[in-house]
Amino acid sequence: MENLKTGSKGNLVTYLQKKLVVLNYPVTVNGDFDQLTDDTVKNYQRKKGLTDDGIVGGNTWVMVYTDTEHPRDALKRIERHNDINQLHPIVRKAAVKVFVQLQSEGIPFRIYEAYRFPERQADLYAQGRTKPGPIVTYAQPWSSYHQYGLAIDFVLFENGEWSWNDAGSKAKLWSKMHELGTQEGLMRLGFETPHLQIMGTSSSALRSGVYPAGGDKLWYNNFMSALGK
Ligand SMILES: [Zn+2]
Repeated sequence: MENLKTGSKGNLVTYLQKKLVVLNYPVTVNGDFDQLTDDTVKNYQRKKGLTDDGIVGGNTWVMVYTDTEHPRDALKRIERHNDINQLHPIVRKAAVKVFVQLQSEGIPFRIYEAYRFPERQADLYAQGRTKPGPIVTYAQPWSSYHQYGLAIDFVLFENGEWSWNDAGSKAKLWSKMHELGTQEGLMRLGFETPHLQIMGTSSSALRSGVYPAGGDKLWYNNFMSALGK
């Protein structure tokens, strides 16, 4: 996905402008990255401690997402968490880029789950084995990229409800989500339709403590807490 800057036009610019309006910035929603939008983005970036270059890329998108989409209240480790700031920055930026592109095209995916603590992975793994319900994962704790903040799950959110429906006319929406994920450097897993994860590592590398470069404190501190460190 290309960065937005002066001269950019289209649905993504409209989407950005709508979010700036929600945040009480005075832009005109016209799909045109005009002078006022440029001034406003720079103002926003300064307020947020970002480089005020007027270029909307991963860091600015993550900030806009964080300011306008609120994670669910999940206090226990066994619960579902969807706070993108618990993810590794590579996956965090890629996930937000997938999200805003889908949203700007009116495709109603939302981030269902982000970091997943090992306690919840164990609980999900038990489903269909030692607990009732269908099998939902083949991964035991610390085998899923979710335990490293390197995976994300997108699910349709329609009429106030999550929907895993991928039949009929919905199939192409899921394909679009996967396609955008690939473009942003993520890969899917065959049977877990909502799931996207980072490329270029392996479960064995992760289990032996080799993590992708570029981690930040938000990711690291949460990850260390999951490890009990
Ligand atoms: Zn997943």
